Amino acid sequence: MESGRVESLGGGVYNVVGDHGTYTVVQDYTGKLNCSCPGFLQKAMCSHVTAVMLMTKVKRRRKPRQNKV
Ligand SMILES: [Zn+2]
Repeated sequence: MESGRVESLGGGVYNVVGDHGTYTVVQDYTGKLNCSCPGFLQKAMCSHVTAVMLMTKVKRRRKPRQNKV
């Protein structure tokens, strides 16, 4: 699966550019991702949400831990 183009807008809001247009993926306060595309409404999962999940995972792994303050 292609990761697509994910653009973080800040505040848990992401723009995902897919094959069929640009969709908005929003992360709520529980960390759950919601997408505005019709596929997400049917399956509660879509490639846009997956792309954001992949991106945030990579981001976290690359970010060094801050154990000491
Ligand atoms: Zn979607």
